[in-house]
Amino acid sequence: MLALSRRSLVGLGLALPALGALRLAHGAPADPGPVQINFNESPWGPSAAARQAMAEGIANCGRYPYKAQYRLIDHFAAQHGLQADQVQVFCGSKLALQHAVMAFTQRGSLVLAEPSYEAPVEAAQARGTAVHAVPLDRQHAHDVDAMLAADAKPGMIYLCNPNNPTGTLTSRHAIERLLSRAPADSVVVVDEAYIHFSDAPSCIELVREHPRLLVLQTFSKLYGMAGARLGLAIGQAPLLRQLEVYDGENVAAAPTLLGGLASLADPQLVPTRKAANARLRDATIAWLGDRGWQCTASQTNCFMIDLRTPAQPVVERLAERGVLVGRVWRSWPNWMRVSVGSEHDMQRLREAFVQVMPG
Ligand code: PLP
Repeated sequence: MLALSRRSLVGLGLALPALGALRLAHGAPADPGPVQINFNESPWGPSAAARQAMAEGIANCGRYPYKAQYRLIDHFAAQHGLQADQVQVFCGSKLALQHAVMAFTQRGSLVLAEPSYEAPVEAAQARGTAVHAVPLDRQHAHDVDAMLAADAKPGMIYLCNPNNPTGTLTSRHAIERLLSRAPADSVVVVDEAYIHFSDAPSCIELVREHPRLLVLQTFSKLYGMAGARLGLAIGQAPLLRQLEVYDGENVAAAPTLLGGLASLADPQLVPTRKAANARLRDATIAWLGDRGWQCTASQTNCFMIDLRTPAQPVVERLAERGVLVGRVWRSWPNWMRVSVGSEHDMQRLREAFVQVMPG
Protein backbone atom coordinates (compact mmCIF):
# COMPACT_ATOMS: atom_id res chain seq x y z
CA MET A 1 0.00 0.00 0.00
CA LEU A 2 1.40 3.41 -0.89
CA ALA A 3 2.25 6.09 1.66
CA LEU A 4 -1.24 6.51 3.24
CA SER A 5 -2.07 4.43 6.32
CA ARG A 6 -5.51 2.90 6.85
CA ARG A 7 -6.05 5.34 9.76
CA SER A 8 -5.46 8.35 7.51
CA LEU A 9 -7.74 6.89 4.81
CA VAL A 10 -10.50 6.23 7.34
CA GLY A 11 -10.04 9.77 8.67
CA LEU A 12 -10.52 11.15 5.17
CA GLY A 13 -13.75 9.20 4.86
CA LEU A 14 -15.18 10.23 8.21
CA ALA A 15 -14.51 13.95 8.09
CA LEU A 16 -17.18 14.45 5.44
CA PRO A 17 -20.13 12.71 7.20
CA ALA A 18 -19.29 14.75 10.30
CA LEU A 19 -19.70 17.90 8.21
CA GLY A 20 -23.08 16.54 7.07
CA ALA A 21 -24.24 16.20 10.68
CA LEU A 22 -23.19 19.78 11.35
CA ARG A 23 -25.28 21.05 8.41
CA LEU A 24 -28.28 19.05 9.63
CA ALA A 25 -27.98 20.70 13.03
CA HIS A 26 -28.31 24.08 11.29
CA GLY A 27 -31.40 23.04 9.36
CA ALA A 28 -29.63 22.52 6.00
CA PRO A 29 -30.27 19.29 4.04
CA ALA A 30 -28.14 16.36 5.24
CA ASP A 31 -24.99 15.67 3.26
CA PRO A 32 -24.93 11.92 2.52
CA GLY A 33 -21.13 12.03 2.86
CA PRO A 34 -18.56 10.55 0.52
CA VAL A 35 -19.06 7.41 -1.50
CA GLN A 36 -17.03 4.75 0.29
CA ILE A 37 -15.93 2.16 -2.24
CA ASN A 38 -12.42 1.81 -0.87
CA PHE A 39 -12.44 -1.10 1.61
CA ASN A 40 -14.41 -3.85 -0.17
CA GLU A 41 -17.22 -3.39 2.34
CA SER A 42 -20.86 -4.16 1.67
CA PRO A 43 -23.14 -1.26 0.69
CA TRP A 44 -26.06 -3.22 2.18
CA GLY A 45 -24.77 -4.00 5.68
CA PRO A 46 -26.22 -6.88 7.73
CA SER A 47 -29.37 -8.51 6.33
CA ALA A 48 -32.74 -7.66 7.92
CA ALA A 49 -32.74 -11.00 9.78
CA ALA A 50 -29.17 -10.44 10.98
CA ARG A 51 -30.04 -6.94 12.25
CA GLN A 52 -32.96 -8.30 14.23
CA ALA A 53 -30.85 -11.09 15.72
CA MET A 54 -28.08 -8.62 16.56
CA ALA A 55 -30.56 -6.32 18.31
CA GLU A 56 -31.82 -9.28 20.36
CA GLY A 57 -28.17 -10.18 21.07
CA ILE A 58 -27.66 -6.89 22.91
CA ALA A 59 -29.94 -8.17 25.69
CA ASN A 60 -27.58 -11.16 26.13
CA CYS A 61 -24.49 -9.03 26.51
CA GLY A 62 -24.37 -9.51 30.27
CA ARG A 63 -23.28 -13.14 29.72
CA TYR A 64 -20.36 -14.69 27.86
CA PRO A 65 -21.90 -15.96 24.64
CA TYR A 66 -20.17 -19.36 24.39
CA LYS A 67 -23.46 -21.09 23.65
CA ALA A 68 -24.10 -18.81 20.67
CA GLN A 69 -20.55 -19.47 19.46
CA TYR A 70 -21.05 -23.24 19.67
CA ARG A 71 -24.38 -22.91 17.82
CA LEU A 72 -22.69 -20.94 15.05
CA ILE A 73 -19.90 -23.51 14.78
CA ASP A 74 -22.36 -26.42 14.76
CA HIS A 75 -24.52 -24.76 12.13
CA PHE A 76 -21.60 -24.00 9.82
CA ALA A 77 -20.05 -27.45 10.36
CA ALA A 78 -23.37 -29.16 9.53
CA GLN A 79 -23.77 -27.04 6.37
CA HIS A 80 -20.34 -28.22 5.17
CA GLY A 81 -20.27 -31.80 6.46
CA LEU A 82 -17.51 -31.01 8.98
CA GLN A 83 -16.91 -31.90 12.62
CA ALA A 84 -17.38 -29.05 15.11
CA ASP A 85 -13.68 -29.19 16.03
CA GLN A 86 -12.79 -28.36 12.42
CA VAL A 87 -14.22 -24.82 12.70
CA GLN A 88 -12.81 -21.99 14.81
CA VAL A 89 -14.32 -18.53 15.38
CA PHE A 90 -12.25 -15.34 15.26
CA CYS A 91 -13.07 -11.66 15.67
CA GLY A 92 -12.51 -11.18 11.94
CA SER A 93 -10.62 -13.44 9.57
CA LYS A 94 -7.68 -11.01 9.56
CA LEU A 95 -6.95 -12.13 13.11
CA ALA A 96 -7.04 -15.78 12.05
CA LEU A 97 -4.66 -14.93 9.22
CA GLN A 98 -2.26 -13.08 11.51
CA HIS A 99 -2.30 -16.03 13.91
CA ALA A 100 -1.68 -18.41 11.02
CA VAL A 101 1.41 -16.42 10.00
CA MET A 102 2.65 -16.52 13.60
CA ALA A 103 1.99 -20.24 13.96
CA PHE A 104 3.19 -21.53 10.61
CA THR A 105 6.18 -19.36 9.66
CA GLN A 106 8.29 -20.10 12.71
CA ARG A 107 10.62 -22.33 10.73
CA GLY A 108 9.96 -21.23 7.15
CA SER A 109 9.10 -18.34 4.88
CA LEU A 110 5.78 -16.95 3.69
CA VAL A 111 5.03 -17.45 -0.01
CA LEU A 112 2.19 -15.54 -1.63
CA ALA A 113 1.13 -13.79 -4.82
CA GLU A 114 1.77 -10.19 -5.79
CA PRO A 115 -0.46 -8.21 -5.80
CA SER A 116 -2.54 -9.83 -3.10
CA TYR A 117 -3.97 -9.04 0.34
CA GLU A 118 -1.16 -7.43 2.34
CA ALA A 119 -2.12 -8.50 5.90
CA PRO A 120 -0.03 -11.72 5.86
CA VAL A 121 3.01 -9.82 4.53
CA GLU A 122 2.69 -7.22 7.27
CA ALA A 123 2.39 -9.96 9.93
CA ALA A 124 5.43 -11.79 8.53
CA GLN A 125 7.56 -8.67 8.23
CA ALA A 126 6.72 -7.64 11.79
CA ARG A 127 8.32 -10.94 12.88
CA GLY A 128 11.30 -10.75 10.53
CA THR A 129 10.03 -13.70 8.48
CA ALA A 130 11.25 -14.00 4.87
CA VAL A 131 8.53 -13.26 2.29
CA HIS A 132 8.53 -14.52 -1.31
CA ALA A 133 6.05 -12.54 -3.41
CA VAL A 134 5.38 -14.25 -6.75
CA PRO A 135 3.69 -12.25 -9.54
CA LEU A 136 0.21 -13.33 -10.62
CA ASP A 137 0.20 -15.03 -14.03
CA ARG A 138 -1.03 -13.42 -17.26
CA GLN A 139 -4.67 -14.22 -16.41
CA HIS A 140 -4.11 -12.70 -12.95
CA ALA A 141 -4.42 -16.14 -11.32
CA HIS A 142 -1.93 -17.46 -8.78
CA ASP A 143 1.08 -18.97 -10.55
CA VAL A 144 1.19 -22.02 -8.30
CA ASP A 145 4.20 -23.60 -10.02
CA ALA A 146 6.24 -20.43 -9.54
CA MET A 147 5.01 -20.23 -5.94
CA LEU A 148 6.16 -23.82 -5.34
CA ALA A 149 9.53 -22.99 -6.89
CA ALA A 150 9.98 -19.83 -4.78
CA ASP A 151 11.13 -21.76 -1.70
CA ALA A 152 11.77 -25.49 -1.26
CA LYS A 153 10.56 -25.42 2.37
CA PRO A 154 8.19 -22.52 3.04
CA GLY A 155 6.39 -22.35 6.36
CA MET A 156 3.14 -21.05 4.85
CA ILE A 157 1.79 -20.61 1.33
CA TYR A 158 -1.04 -18.06 1.16
CA LEU A 159 -3.55 -18.13 -1.70
CA CYS A 160 -6.42 -15.65 -1.84
CA ASN A 161 -9.32 -16.90 -3.96
CA PRO A 162 -10.88 -14.79 -5.41
CA ASN A 163 -7.85 -12.58 -5.05
CA ASN A 164 -7.90 -9.19 -3.38
CA PRO A 165 -7.24 -6.69 -5.06
CA THR A 166 -7.76 -8.09 -8.57
CA GLY A 167 -10.97 -10.04 -7.87
CA THR A 168 -9.65 -12.78 -10.16
CA LEU A 169 -9.92 -16.53 -9.66
CA THR A 170 -7.38 -19.31 -9.43
CA SER A 171 -8.72 -22.62 -10.76
CA ARG A 172 -9.58 -25.49 -8.46
CA HIS A 173 -7.25 -27.62 -10.55
CA ALA A 174 -4.31 -25.28 -9.75
CA ILE A 175 -5.17 -25.21 -6.04
CA GLU A 176 -5.28 -29.00 -5.92
CA ARG A 177 -1.89 -29.12 -7.67
CA LEU A 178 -0.51 -26.75 -5.05
CA LEU A 179 -1.92 -28.92 -2.26
CA SER A 180 -0.53 -32.14 -3.71
CA ARG A 181 2.95 -30.69 -4.36
CA ALA A 182 3.46 -28.45 -1.32
CA PRO A 183 6.17 -29.78 1.01
CA ALA A 184 4.74 -31.95 3.80
CA ASP A 185 5.70 -29.47 6.54
CA SER A 186 4.23 -26.38 4.84
CA VAL A 187 0.73 -25.14 5.56
CA VAL A 188 -1.41 -23.91 2.66
CA VAL A 189 -3.84 -21.13 3.67
CA VAL A 190 -6.66 -20.49 1.21
CA ASP A 191 -8.36 -17.17 2.02
CA GLU A 192 -11.97 -17.27 0.81
CA ALA A 193 -13.06 -13.85 2.11
CA TYR A 194 -14.74 -13.18 -1.27
CA ILE A 195 -15.78 -16.68 -2.33
CA HIS A 196 -19.51 -16.03 -1.84
CA PHE A 197 -19.53 -13.51 -4.69
CA SER A 198 -18.08 -15.98 -7.19
CA ASP A 199 -19.07 -19.24 -8.85
CA ALA A 200 -15.85 -20.90 -7.66
CA PRO A 201 -16.23 -23.93 -5.40
CA SER A 202 -14.99 -23.46 -1.84
CA CYS A 203 -11.94 -25.47 -0.77
CA ILE A 204 -13.60 -26.33 2.54
CA GLU A 205 -14.33 -29.90 1.50
CA LEU A 206 -10.61 -30.43 0.76
CA VAL A 207 -9.84 -29.99 4.45
CA ARG A 208 -10.93 -33.58 5.07
CA GLU A 209 -8.11 -35.03 2.96
CA HIS A 210 -5.45 -32.32 3.56
CA PRO A 211 -4.28 -32.03 7.17
CA ARG A 212 -2.07 -29.03 6.26
CA LEU A 213 -4.84 -26.96 4.60
CA LEU A 214 -6.42 -24.02 6.40
CA VAL A 215 -9.40 -22.24 4.81
CA LEU A 216 -10.51 -18.80 5.99
CA GLN A 217 -13.93 -17.21 5.49
CA THR A 218 -15.48 -14.01 6.78
CA PHE A 219 -18.84 -12.38 7.42
CA SER A 220 -17.36 -8.98 6.50
CA LYS A 221 -17.97 -9.05 2.77
CA LEU A 222 -21.13 -10.53 1.22
CA TYR A 223 -22.81 -10.84 4.64
CA GLY A 224 -22.20 -7.13 5.28
CA MET A 225 -20.91 -7.48 8.84
CA ALA A 226 -17.40 -5.95 8.62
CA GLY A 227 -18.09 -3.76 11.65
CA ALA A 228 -19.27 -6.71 13.73
CA ARG A 229 -15.96 -8.63 13.26
CA LEU A 230 -16.60 -12.30 12.57
CA GLY A 231 -14.36 -14.73 10.72
CA LEU A 232 -13.93 -18.49 10.58
CA ALA A 233 -10.91 -20.76 10.24
CA ILE A 234 -11.59 -24.22 8.89
CA GLY A 235 -9.08 -27.05 9.12
CA GLN A 236 -8.36 -30.36 10.78
CA ALA A 237 -8.42 -30.14 14.57
CA PRO A 238 -4.64 -30.51 15.19
CA LEU A 239 -3.94 -27.65 12.77
CA LEU A 240 -6.55 -25.41 14.42
CA ARG A 241 -5.06 -26.19 17.83
CA GLN A 242 -1.84 -24.52 16.64
CA LEU A 243 -3.80 -21.28 16.20
CA GLU A 244 -5.41 -21.52 19.62
CA VAL A 245 -2.02 -20.91 21.26
CA TYR A 246 -2.46 -17.19 20.55
CA ASP A 247 -5.87 -16.46 22.02
CA GLY A 248 -6.96 -19.60 23.82
CA GLU A 249 -10.61 -20.29 23.11
CA ASN A 250 -11.76 -16.72 22.78
CA VAL A 251 -15.38 -15.83 22.18
CA ALA A 252 -16.87 -13.25 19.80
CA ALA A 253 -19.57 -10.72 20.79
CA ALA A 254 -23.13 -12.00 21.32
CA PRO A 255 -24.81 -9.70 18.73
CA THR A 256 -22.11 -10.60 16.23
CA LEU A 257 -22.54 -14.36 16.72
CA LEU A 258 -26.34 -14.16 16.50
CA GLY A 259 -26.13 -11.96 13.39
CA GLY A 260 -23.77 -14.49 11.83
CA LEU A 261 -26.13 -17.35 12.61
CA ALA A 262 -29.11 -15.52 11.13
CA SER A 263 -27.07 -14.84 7.97
CA LEU A 264 -26.12 -18.50 7.56
CA ALA A 265 -29.73 -19.56 8.12
CA ASP A 266 -31.04 -17.42 5.22
CA PRO A 267 -30.79 -19.46 1.99
CA GLN A 268 -31.64 -16.41 -0.19
CA LEU A 269 -28.97 -14.07 1.14
CA VAL A 270 -25.96 -15.33 -0.83
CA PRO A 271 -27.68 -15.74 -4.22
CA THR A 272 -29.53 -12.40 -3.95
CA ARG A 273 -26.50 -10.32 -2.98
CA LYS A 274 -24.21 -12.21 -5.32
CA ALA A 275 -26.49 -11.38 -8.28
CA ALA A 276 -26.86 -7.71 -7.27
CA ASN A 277 -23.10 -7.34 -6.87
CA ALA A 278 -22.38 -9.02 -10.22
CA ARG A 279 -24.88 -6.79 -12.03
CA LEU A 280 -23.39 -3.57 -10.61
CA ARG A 281 -19.78 -4.75 -11.10
CA ASP A 282 -20.29 -5.91 -14.68
CA ALA A 283 -22.19 -2.76 -15.64
CA THR A 284 -19.40 -0.56 -14.26
CA ILE A 285 -16.67 -2.59 -15.95
CA ALA A 286 -18.61 -2.48 -19.25
CA TRP A 287 -19.04 1.32 -18.92
CA LEU A 288 -15.30 1.70 -18.34
CA GLY A 289 -14.54 -0.70 -21.22
CA ASP A 290 -16.68 1.40 -23.59
CA ARG A 291 -14.39 4.33 -22.75
CA GLY A 292 -11.22 2.35 -23.35
CA TRP A 293 -10.32 1.43 -19.77
CA GLN A 294 -9.25 -2.14 -19.12
CA CYS A 295 -10.28 -3.84 -15.86
CA THR A 296 -9.36 -7.13 -14.23
CA ALA A 297 -11.78 -10.04 -14.83
CA SER A 298 -13.27 -9.79 -11.37
CA GLN A 299 -15.52 -12.43 -9.84
CA THR A 300 -15.99 -10.53 -6.60
CA ASN A 301 -16.88 -7.14 -5.12
CA CYS A 302 -13.72 -5.35 -6.23
CA PHE A 303 -11.81 -4.93 -9.45
CA MET A 304 -8.82 -2.99 -10.70
CA ILE A 305 -8.69 -0.42 -13.50
CA ASP A 306 -5.54 0.04 -15.58
CA LEU A 307 -5.22 3.84 -15.71
CA ARG A 308 -2.05 3.73 -17.84
CA THR A 309 -0.71 6.54 -15.62
CA PRO A 310 0.22 6.64 -11.91
CA ALA A 311 -2.97 5.75 -10.05
CA GLN A 312 -2.40 7.42 -6.67
CA PRO A 313 -3.02 10.99 -7.92
CA VAL A 314 -6.26 9.75 -9.52
CA VAL A 315 -7.36 8.22 -6.19
CA GLU A 316 -6.73 11.60 -4.58
CA ARG A 317 -8.60 13.56 -7.27
CA LEU A 318 -11.60 11.24 -6.91
CA ALA A 319 -11.48 11.71 -3.12
CA GLU A 320 -11.61 15.50 -3.64
CA ARG A 321 -14.89 14.87 -5.50
CA GLY A 322 -16.29 12.79 -2.63
CA VAL A 323 -15.61 9.35 -4.12
CA LEU A 324 -13.25 7.26 -2.00
CA VAL A 325 -11.61 4.43 -3.94
CA GLY A 326 -8.32 2.60 -3.70
CA ARG A 327 -5.95 1.46 -2.94
CA VAL A 328 -2.89 1.22 -5.18
CA TRP A 329 -0.40 -1.64 -4.90
CA ARG A 330 3.31 -0.78 -5.26
CA SER A 331 3.86 -3.53 -7.84
CA TRP A 332 0.95 -2.27 -10.00
CA PRO A 333 1.36 1.51 -9.71
CA ASN A 334 -0.95 2.30 -12.64
CA TRP A 335 -3.86 0.20 -11.40
CA MET A 336 -6.53 1.45 -9.01
CA ARG A 337 -8.78 -0.84 -6.97
CA VAL A 338 -12.48 -0.04 -6.84
CA SER A 339 -14.98 -1.79 -4.55
CA VAL A 340 -18.49 -2.47 -5.81
CA GLY A 341 -20.97 -0.33 -3.91
CA SER A 342 -24.64 0.48 -4.42
CA GLU A 343 -26.23 1.70 -7.67
CA HIS A 344 -25.88 5.26 -6.37
CA ASP A 345 -22.21 4.72 -5.43
CA MET A 346 -21.35 3.42 -8.91
CA GLN A 347 -23.20 6.32 -10.54
CA ARG A 348 -21.19 8.79 -8.42
CA LEU A 349 -18.01 6.95 -9.42
CA ARG A 350 -18.88 7.33 -13.11
CA GLU A 351 -19.61 11.05 -12.73
CA ALA A 352 -16.34 11.70 -10.88
CA PHE A 353 -14.30 9.41 -13.13
CA VAL A 354 -15.18 11.29 -16.34
CA GLN A 355 -14.11 14.55 -14.69
CA VAL A 356 -10.81 13.14 -13.47
CA MET A 357 -10.01 10.94 -16.49
CA PRO A 358 -11.72 12.64 -19.46
CA GLY A 359 -10.01 10.10 -21.78
N1 PLP B 1 -8.88 -11.60 3.77
C1 PLP B 1 -8.99 -10.79 2.72
C2 PLP B 1 -8.56 -11.29 1.39
C3 PLP B 1 -9.49 -9.49 2.85
O1 PLP B 1 -9.54 -8.69 1.79
C4 PLP B 1 -9.89 -9.06 4.12
C5 PLP B 1 -10.42 -7.70 4.33
O2 PLP B 1 -10.45 -6.85 3.49
C6 PLP B 1 -9.76 -9.93 5.19
C7 PLP B 1 -9.27 -11.20 4.98
C8 PLP B 1 -10.12 -9.52 6.57
O3 PLP B 1 -11.46 -9.66 6.79
P1 PLP B 1 -12.10 -9.55 8.24
O4 PLP B 1 -12.96 -8.35 8.20
O5 PLP B 1 -12.85 -10.84 8.42
O6 PLP B 1 -10.99 -9.43 9.24
